[in-house]
Amino acid sequence: MSAQLEYTPLPQISEIHDRLRATYTSGVTRPLAYRRRQLLQLARLLQENAVAFENAELEDLGKPRQEVALVELGGTISSALRAAENLEEWMKPEKPTVEEWRNSWDTTIYKVPKGVALIISPWNYPVILSFNPLVGAIAAGCPVVLKPSESTPAISGLITSLVPKYLDPDGYAVVNGAVKETTALLDLRWDHIFFTGGTKIGKIVAAAAAKYVTPLTLELGGKSPVIVDTACDIQLAAKRVLYGKAQNSGQLCVSPDYILVPKAIVKEFNEAVKKTYEEFWPKTPFHPEAQWGKIVNPLHYSRVMTLIGRTKGEIIAGGEVDGVRRIATTVVANVQQADALMEEENFGPVLPILEVEDVDEAISIVASRPTPLVIYAFTDSEETKQKIVEKTNSGCICLNDTISQLGVHEIPFGGHGDSGYGAYHGKATFDIFTHRRGFINVPKEIEPYVAFRYPPYTEEGYKK
Ligand code: NAD
Repeated sequence: MSAQLEYTPLPQISEIHDRLRATYTSGVTRPLAYRRRQLLQLARLLQENAVAFENAELEDLGKPRQEVALVELGGTISSALRAAENLEEWMKPEKPTVEEWRNSWDTTIYKVPKGVALIISPWNYPVILSFNPLVGAIAAGCPVVLKPSESTPAISGLITSLVPKYLDPDGYAVVNGAVKETTALLDLRWDHIFFTGGTKIGKIVAAAAAKYVTPLTLELGGKSPVIVDTACDIQLAAKRVLYGKAQNSGQLCVSPDYILVPKAIVKEFNEAVKKTYEEFWPKTPFHPEAQWGKIVNPLHYSRVMTLIGRTKGEIIAGGEVDGVRRIATTVVANVQQADALMEEENFGPVLPILEVEDVDEAISIVASRPTPLVIYAFTDSEETKQKIVEKTNSGCICLNDTISQLGVHEIPFGGHGDSGYGAYHGKATFDIFTHRRGFINVPKEIEPYVAFRYPPYTEEGYKK
């Protein structure tokens, strides 16, 4: 039986908001020592309850323990620890180089918290997508209301019970609920909103943020393509794409959504996919060793099954179901651009392969579609790499692998165009919740040099 999530009563939502606002005004969340302690506590929360999180993810998403430990827990713990370690440096005021005559102005950029933040997270990676933004907000000195997804009740329930035990309850609170509760949250004034989810709901959040001119980070989705060049290791490409697609059964914002393969190598590529498939999952697909996650709920399950049912392509691997919302990674060849699988983000274990004339056609197809979160490409050619960089748009580009960009803390992670705006990971997450406050102190001694600016305006003053 699935867990029941208790929704936060509506009147409590504004009380929580007021409590956090008072905490922010008191200044308690600002000192380095406070922020660092909360970050270390967040790491402890995950370390000490790792098994409980694994169990909850198994219950809600059927996610393999290894994936939970590696991505959800390991990824978040290392973010929190890295932030705690680097925070003092990040917080330091900057002294920009100024024009020489202003050297005495004490020109400074202070890093101040934006204020009280709202984080709304999705269900697919419910720990890291809730806590990674939280790491940045804590580091920046912002109190936070976290609204996890109602679609993962066991995990959201666990987060709700643990946050007040580990973090300062006056600084960080969890609000649970669906549309009604989230709408009540969005009716309030926030100093930053961080939203991760689909584009449709992202637009609702953006409209609500606009009401108060609240700065917003929108981490959205989209169809992230894979371009396969003739100049590449085809077997390795097949292996790395299939690995990326299988993560969380394709319920990943940067999941490879469709593959574009030049006709000269499409046959060889399809064979390579089939061979890899047999190597990855040699037994029946639902043998326990297969360890595929579940589709989150019946609604999404029937959405994915309908897509598979509507495709005019040919299933060359997978396609089996187990009756408890598991679908084997399903590779579909000979897919046309007008196919059902090309309409919207598949967000499930379906991987269409489209044949194209050459890599140039692949690039122009990608460039003509809404801007994705990431473009994957497999190529050994410097020329192809340059064409992709110059002729397409995306949040990021990952060459010769899938998913690996998520682990590189030094590059920003975020969308562009239709896939959202604002980017985070590493120090960029701290920057999102930080206001860079300019400061100058103009010395009295410069008065003779600025006398010309005062009225009454004269011809002589103007000429100076
Ligand atoms: P979603 O947009 O349905 O829900 C996200 C959050 O919005 C949830 O907390 C939900 O309660 C809330 N919400 C739902 N309806 C709302 C409404 N009417 N008003 C206000 N809030 C509302 O997304 P999802 O189904 O949870 O996640 C899947 C989507 O998220 C996919 O499109 C995926 O690509 C995207 N995603 C993006 C990233 C990223 O980092 N860019 C990461 C994960 C998922």
